[in-house]
Amino acid sequence: MTTIQALLLVVAGFAAAVVVNFGVLPGDHIVSSLYLLPVLFACHVWRPRAVAVTAMAAASLYIASAQVEERPLTVWPFGVLAFVIGGYLTVQFSVQREEIARHAERESEERQRLQVFMGMVAHDLAGSVTNIMAGADMLAEAPERRSEEADRVAIAAITSGTSQARRLLTDLRDAAAIGAGQFNVAPGRMDLVELAREIVAEQRLGNAGHMITLDAPDHLPGDWDRARVGQLMANLVSNACKYSSAGSEVLVVLRAWSGGATIGVQDQGIGIAPDEQARIFEPFARVERGDDVPGTGLGLWISKAIAESHGGRISVESAAHRGSSFTVILPSAERATGEQDAARPDEARIDAVERAARAGGSTQLRPNLVIAGPPATYAMEPR
Ligand code: ADP
Repeated sequence: MTTIQALLLVVAGFAAAVVVNFGVLPGDHIVSSLYLLPVLFACHVWRPRAVAVTAMAAASLYIASAQVEERPLTVWPFGVLAFVIGGYLTVQFSVQREEIARHAERESEERQRLQVFMGMVAHDLAGSVTNIMAGADMLAEAPERRSEEADRVAIAAITSGTSQARRLLTDLRDAAAIGAGQFNVAPGRMDLVELAREIVAEQRLGNAGHMITLDAPDHLPGDWDRARVGQLMANLVSNACKYSSAGSEVLVVLRAWSGGATIGVQDQGIGIAPDEQARIFEPFARVERGDDVPGTGLGLWISKAIAESHGGRISVESAAHRGSSFTVILPSAERATGEQDAARPDEARIDAVERAARAGGSTQLRPNLVIAGPPATYAMEPR
């Protein structure tokens, strides 16, 4: 039913109530509930504010009718009370109706996202199984039809298929732990720079087309969960490569601050539109690209859980087709030097560190430490 049709029905309801009260019923009779009928109808189709306005119109009509009929003043308050109660109940009904509709919409969106997610998991799993089977088939060939080169290709296919499947299973296990509120980190003494070198070296192997550069101090010791922070860095760097063209630069920047460290990962890729930036950290949040980039949409959700489990935060600055810059703030109790960082830094402190990291990240970065790889000719345009 359109708004105009509903409005016409409500007005017709009020008109009918006036006709019945004054034209059909004898003398000084006013049936106030007749004015409430249009309000009852309105609460089934309109938003709470419109229902409240309808209830006020009904109450005004009642008061006007009572005046015309010269009803005694002692009767009025009871009539008005009936409208206050009726108005309150109908507005509440409308509020709840809206809440149920929103809930149903959210549920249907989540169901849809879950279905898309299951499709992606099945797709990725099928890809890894296909790789493994292709490799196994090649190795199963009769020895005279095999060569050393073919065996190497077969083993590479099996290794890649297996590690793809293992990554997928790890993501699923982490997602289940986050969902159950059982995602924990176990911080220990570590050097963030040493870890970053390992991750960058690994990522260079898998993304030979990209120039991955590390800009970091010589050492950056602190208390963090080494495996989890490695997983976070690997996810950010592999995303940076996945969503940018071969040959482009990916810059990993580590900086120390008085209460911990910051990690920045910048690429020059397809970027993320502003309206998509908030939801990429939600579960199953793949942005539809219409391409065949593998992924489940869990990586950034898990990365966020890792940063937050350390008392930190992850954020992104990006614009479509202008690259993305992810910033992770990782507090470390062990590194706290000032009083303000002695306990877990508060939100305001994290905000300040994030602002400083972003300002540095978008304008001043130059690699000062490049590990095994192409020469650093990187120069980032200020965005
Ligand atoms: P996945 O990469 O497996 O889809 P993620 O949770 O890691 O899942 O990322 C969620 C979405 O965020 C991706 O689908 C992609 O659209 C977007 N995204 C993440 N990193 C980048 C990036 N560096 N550049 C552009 N888009 C990105």
